Amino acid sequence: PCTDFDVAYFNSYAHVGIHEEMIKDRVRTETYKSAIMQHQRFIEGKVVMDVGCGTGILSIFCAQAGAKRVYAVDASSIAVQANEVVKANNLVDKVIVLHGRVEDIEIDEEVDVIISEWMGYMLLYESMLGSVITARDRWLKRGGLILPSNATLYMAPITNPDRYSYSIDFWRNVYGIDMSAMMPLAKQCAFEEPCVETITGENVLTWPHVVKHVDCYTVQIHELESVTAKYKFQSMMRAPLHGFAFWFDVEFIGPIMSPSNNPYTSSPIGSSHDNTADGIQRRKRSNSNEALVLSTAPEDPPTHWQQTMVYFYDPIELEQDQIIEGSLTLSQSKENPRFMNIHLQYTCAGRSFVKESVMR
Ligand code: SAH
Repeated sequence: PCTDFDVAYFNSYAHVGIHEEMIKDRVRTETYKSAIMQHQRFIEGKVVMDVGCGTGILSIFCAQAGAKRVYAVDASSIAVQANEVVKANNLVDKVIVLHGRVEDIEIDEEVDVIISEWMGYMLLYESMLGSVITARDRWLKRGGLILPSNATLYMAPITNPDRYSYSIDFWRNVYGIDMSAMMPLAKQCAFEEPCVETITGENVLTWPHVVKHVDCYTVQIHELESVTAKYKFQSMMRAPLHGFAFWFDVEFIGPIMSPSNNPYTSSPIGSSHDNTADGIQRRKRSNSNEALVLSTAPEDPPTHWQQTMVYFYDPIELEQDQIIEGSLTLSQSKENPRFMNIHLQYTCAGRSFVKESVMR
């Protein structure tokens, strides 16, 4: 059922600003466009569904790539504008805009391709991937293509002294007045919730850990309700540890096909439900080109997703080679299923901490 939470969520996509921000993110939009062109031989003459079409941009890219028909679905009233854009570009015979939730709309054919830009902050915030899974299970033909095909969420310990001094140390001396009494409140207000900010590779203290890998061809909705990862890091330097950073990447890999109907290559390949590292590798090789990657990592060109930080209230002085270990659970909030609870447990030099936060 469509809840009040959904109504508020879809209303947030009725404003131009959010679409403008996404479309002006060239890394995002151009990677999608390149992915569509890379899979053009699969898309040509085929039926596509764009799950959450927004302004219709990805649907139009697919029509330009030669799709026979594109179902552009959005539950937000932005679908009204998408329909106008389609008309103005003389694509009404190809792109069918449907204003409704993918969970509620009906179409009377299966689709060859599902494309969607569903990724939220920390990958899973917004919980839109469930709607892509619903569309896949309702309409995608066996052997069909899903773009993007897989996604990976990473975490790594970080140091960010500038950020800490800007918000906290600042209070030590304010116009000559000692206002350190403000510091507990400043810490709470600055670091209680996750922060979406840009960091660089220099803030990151170790190689990242994979929190969750999702194969869009096989992932099930129940896997996303709660994600738990255990981690163990060894700091590569001596530095104050301020918290953890999270980022993700997605890849655009074709489905597994038998050699006879594979438009990419004639190499032999296995089942598209093979979710092992091996299966994914085989699927990568089944594309004629290297898999395209849309990355939001600190060392890569910035995107509107930036990185998400969970800061500690107080830094921990780390020695070189010191171990930081613990566990992380991401779960849908009871308060609003679009919100995400972040339960972070960490142990360092024999001391254990728990930090709970909510991404609203
Ligand atoms: N594809 C566009 C917009 C991506 S933003 C682009 O790339 O620019 C995600 C869009 O998905 C939003 O417009 C939102 O309203 C829509 N959306 C999210 N969940 C949906 C659902 N269950 N059914 C239909 N639309 C949905």
